[in-house]
Amino acid sequence: MSKHILILGGGYGGLLSALSAREHLSAEEATITVINRVPSHQIITELHRLAAGNVEEKAVALPLEKLLKGKQINVKVGTVQKIDVAGRSVKLEGGESYRYDSLVLALGSETNYFGIPGLQENSLTLKSVQDANRVYAHVEDRIREYSKTKNKADATFVIGGGGLTGVELVGELADELPGICRKNGVDFADISLYLVEAMPSILPIFSADLIARATSSLEQRGVKFLTGLAITEVNGSVVSLKDGQTIDTSTLVWTGGVQGSTLVAESGVEVNRGRATVNEFLQSVSHPEVFLAGDCAVVFGPEGRPYPPTAQLAWQMGELAGANIAAFFNGSSMDTFNPVFSGTLASLGRKDGIGSIGGSGIELKGTPASLMKKASNARYLAHINGLFSLAY
Ligand code: NAD
Repeated sequence: MSKHILILGGGYGGLLSALSAREHLSAEEATITVINRVPSHQIITELHRLAAGNVEEKAVALPLEKLLKGKQINVKVGTVQKIDVAGRSVKLEGGESYRYDSLVLALGSETNYFGIPGLQENSLTLKSVQDANRVYAHVEDRIREYSKTKNKADATFVIGGGGLTGVELVGELADELPGICRKNGVDFADISLYLVEAMPSILPIFSADLIARATSSLEQRGVKFLTGLAITEVNGSVVSLKDGQTIDTSTLVWTGGVQGSTLVAESGVEVNRGRATVNEFLQSVSHPEVFLAGDCAVVFGPEGRPYPPTAQLAWQMGELAGANIAAFFNGSSMDTFNPVFSGTLASLGRKDGIGSIGGSGIELKGTPASLMKKASNARYLAHINGLFSLAY
């Protein structure tokens, strides 16, 4: 009898698990439905560029219907309201509900505000194409406003959190703000662009040499770093830091951290600090018919430390989850998850970047890192397009 595979989320984990499941199961064997909040598959690793107006929306929001055309995979645009793994059902906002034989949870992560007073109400985020569009429109608006009023808060931009998201965004803004200023008759020298980081250093995943390179490259383009200073409160336009200083700004973009999906945490699957725990086959440890892909799961490496939630991990998890669902239905043996880490690349604006390649100790700076980052995006796009051609 035909099975129903329900996939929640059309990001890296969701899309790849759908394509992979379809590669292993014919349309007679299984119906596959992907439910996603928006009609597009979003290339969220490129959102910093959209937020600074350096790329068009169509390059980072790929219509799911078009991507999955001919694959016999149903796409439902809707927002999941409740997942009930005990009853094997999923309810959407608006009341529609779905039942499943196997479920893939690929709902990604959410912004973590760490309970900092006033932060959520007074900040923008960078988790989706919609967020990135909001940031760009807001930045342009503030510069336009500053050209009229000379209100210093409108010329002050604060990024909260110096992880990869915050640094990539600040690099892009450093490159694009001069042009936006020029267009609006504003002197770029009037602009303050801050990156606030609670820890002593930005990007601790990189070597001291690469961190120094990133810092000096961004400082040369006008970024002011405030490190070792946590944001402790936000009151309207006033951002308070740990040492008591305040910054008056009309623009705070919060990139200070992520947490698992609340829907997954409340679904009934076993979780560890809000992220679903999985076995070596990427099955929920509590519900074997539920598979996990991407940030909403926690996967522990051999040293017992959780892997960071990244796109490359979500992609690999999705492919394996799809294949393992087929094995689960067919009663054949499932494969274990052995992620391959190609390394970490951080763009520092249009032309600069840093990167470390896979466990090889090789480090990249400048154009090679920047090109490698672009190539890794192109590789992903080629990969998903390649899979499309394998239609049943
Ligand atoms: P993150 O958790 O990696 O970084 C958040 C930063 O904010 C940390 O450095 C933290 O110390 C800082 N912070 C936390 N509270 C703060 C406070 N109160 N005030 C000031 N700073 C504060 O989050 P992220 O950068 O969004 O990354 C999330 C995940 O996505 C990571 O696993 C990352 O590797 C991945 N990612 C990868 C890429 C890439 O590969 N190029 C790009 C973006 C994100």
